[in-house]
Amino acid sequence: DEEKLKKFYIGSIDQGTTSTRFIIFDGLGQPVAQHQLEFTQNYPHPGWHEHDPKEIVETVELCIEQATQDFLDQGHEIEDIKAVGITNQRETVLVWDRETGEPLHNAIAWPDTRTKGLVRQLKEKEGADELKNICGLPLSTYPSSVKLVWLLQHDKAVKKAYDEGRLVFGTMDTWLLYNLNGGKEKNVLVTDATNASRTMFMNLETTEYDDRLLDFFKLDRKKLTLPKIVPSSDAKEFGTLAKGLLKGIRIAGCLGDQSAALVGQQAFKPGRAKNTYGTGCFLLYNVGEKPVISKHGLLATVAYDFGGKRKPVYALEGSIAVAGSGVKFLMDNLGFISSSNKISELASSVEDNGGVVFVTAFSGLFAPYWIDDAKGTIFGITQYTEQGHIARATLEATCFQTKAILDAMEKDSGHKLAELAVDGGMSSSNLCMQTQANIIGIPVDRPAMRETTALGAAIAAGFAVGVWKEFDELKEINQKDRVVFEPNISAEASAKMFKKWSRAVEMCRGWVD
Ligand code: ADP
Repeated sequence: DEEKLKKFYIGSIDQGTTSTRFIIFDGLGQPVAQHQLEFTQNYPHPGWHEHDPKEIVETVELCIEQATQDFLDQGHEIEDIKAVGITNQRETVLVWDRETGEPLHNAIAWPDTRTKGLVRQLKEKEGADELKNICGLPLSTYPSSVKLVWLLQHDKAVKKAYDEGRLVFGTMDTWLLYNLNGGKEKNVLVTDATNASRTMFMNLETTEYDDRLLDFFKLDRKKLTLPKIVPSSDAKEFGTLAKGLLKGIRIAGCLGDQSAALVGQQAFKPGRAKNTYGTGCFLLYNVGEKPVISKHGLLATVAYDFGGKRKPVYALEGSIAVAGSGVKFLMDNLGFISSSNKISELASSVEDNGGVVFVTAFSGLFAPYWIDDAKGTIFGITQYTEQGHIARATLEATCFQTKAILDAMEKDSGHKLAELAVDGGMSSSNLCMQTQANIIGIPVDRPAMRETTALGAAIAAGFAVGVWKEFDELKEINQKDRVVFEPNISAEASAKMFKKWSRAVEMCRGWVD
């Protein structure tokens, strides 16, 4: 059986916030070839965050070529690659011209907070409170909707294209699928339900666009081309790769990155959860086939939709804007470390945080607080403070927010999580994961193979082309050599730390711009 499973391969495009990867997995879910490229982060003004749409397509194409060449060099054959899946940074907005296929603006990346003022205005509008009940998301700077409205208000070329009916709106999945299929000639314009559930344009129950939502944002569907919403696992809708070594191979899976990680961690049963520590950190909790609208600051989202006879599955989500990007900040902006993996060493040079609490609110604070005007703030600095204390406080910030999210999730769902499955770049830090276990008081479980996001997209693609048919067939995948971090401080000590954090959060509100 193992031999049979190893005989097929699935490619996975993982287009993240800081880097793009292409990984080829075997039938046992092990990567056999991969390539990764970072791309430019543009910060044109404080709070702004953009990506070059064409540069991103180039990184995807290059990663596919490099990894596939490596795959061939190992003696494998292209025919053994049964399909390709795609997973991507969510909410990020792209706009292009329907006639030329050319981007009309840089992509506005999900952590961008330029829409702060606009969000304040929109919150005053009639119907603002109702939106969450339809789409699962509250108004904030985070979803795609407000970024698109900002572009229509501030960019003449975007507005002109809209008025002339040439404007295409897409999230990163749609932009990539459009380009990988060959652009305007093929004109493939699709998105999957997980990505669409981050726009604020989709009705969670029906997984279709809802005119009440579009009307609220004053968007006219006659002028704006929106991609068709399809299931995350589908053998036809996503098209085929138009060029390169994998030309003609089907794209058969598409999931937003956090949904892909949930699938990759195989959290298929209601009550299962995963937390991914990448650029930001995102905890998704499977709630089953009916969405749960949060009363405690979480988001409701589509977890995955495998199509056919299967119904969409929903999740409660706690989104943290800054996780690994806090580590990157200490490296790129403050020069504390020369590479991200040195953060644990620096943080271990001191015994504890020395009284320092760092609220890493570079993009305001997301779940469960939703404070748009919060600014990054370091509390408790004294003559005694060293770089190590700040490094530790940076790692702890994500752990504290995860704790606040778990508390909210317990209130919304009525269940206490028994264990937290983790992945993502920052989960490589043992110190961070031990701290996380200590702060939430439950075991933290980390797989050996941390590319669960890419694996999830490969799983969605594999289901569409029939190499797997039941979730049960996956149960051996990525189970070996998992590391479990058990809490090792008292509940009192942990509660005391968290109390200090909560105070710091209250104190970082409303800083004047
Ligand atoms: P994304 O998919 O959002 O681009 P990744 O899951 O690739 O993110 O994680 C990258 C992030 O993880 C970076 O921000 C980096 O600073 C952080 N990171 C990577 N390795 C480590 C490490 N050993 N310790 C702490 N942080 C790390």
